[in-house]
Amino acid sequence: MTVQDKVIAITGASSGIGEATARHLASHGAAVVLGARRTDRLDQLVQEITAAGGRAAAVRVDVTDPDDLRSLVDLALARFGRLDVLVANAGISRISPITDFDVEGWSAMVDVNVKGVLHGIAAALPVFRAQGSGHLVTVVSTSGLKIVPTQAVYAGTKNAVRTLLEALRQESTDGVLRTTSISPGYVRTELIDSAVDDPQLRAQAKQNMSDLGIDPTAVARAIAFAIDQPDDVEIGDLTIRPTRQG
Ligand code: NDP
Repeated sequence: MTVQDKVIAITGASSGIGEATARHLASHGAAVVLGARRTDRLDQLVQEITAAGGRAAAVRVDVTDPDDLRSLVDLALARFGRLDVLVANAGISRISPITDFDVEGWSAMVDVNVKGVLHGIAAALPVFRAQGSGHLVTVVSTSGLKIVPTQAVYAGTKNAVRTLLEALRQESTDGVLRTTSISPGYVRTELIDSAVDDPQLRAQAKQNMSDLGIDPTAVARAIAFAIDQPDDVEIGDLTIRPTRQG
């Protein structure tokens, strides 16, 4: 089965990497099932994909609520009869030194970036097992590969996901589940908009992002590459960063 035949659920599909991935996979024939909180954006995306001849459906998903992930999986089953891939992409970033004690931001990152993925696993794995096949793709980050100041907690959440995926991979040697971690570097998305409170620092971060960041379709293509492999081939880790990124 290639991308063309697959039913693929994507969290965080209302902007950035998730949106680009939805468009890319749908244009290659996949049925995409989209989740995020901004339903106006999701509805618009579904409309555009279907108008172009693709297959898409959407539901409001807050990944901090396990029930919402079950709704996403249920929608895939109801509309398209199965679920082949979950792209656990939804994420947030809060950038500051640890000594700023952004306790609220730390909790939010853990809730969305770590628990959100766990909720996706809990919702999708039983379906994958019942079907006898499935693929979990997570979007982690180069922040977890090159650790830098101000991104300690964000990087920690991404490496928590990397760690849990490795354990899940080892627990899944019966050939049912494939796991993939995608590590993007700087990608031009909305992520930075809510990452920094200070207006001056935010403007600077946005400028850096727009100077250096690559288009989110680069990450979408990498996700499609991992999904497109034969069933017995698992792409474990992929890093996609701007050529000029240090
Ligand atoms: P965006 O801010 O453009 O997209 C983030 C997506 O996550 C949005 O669709 C947003 O939707 C969704 N989201 C946030 N919180 C929740 C929530 N509680 N429930 C459901 N959906 C949620 O940023 P990116 O596209 O860049 O981010 C996508 C992933 O890529 C993230 O995991 C991020 O950490 C990762 N990443 C990004 C990099 C970059 O440079 N841009 C680099 C490395 C990794 P909504 O607000 O509508 O709910």
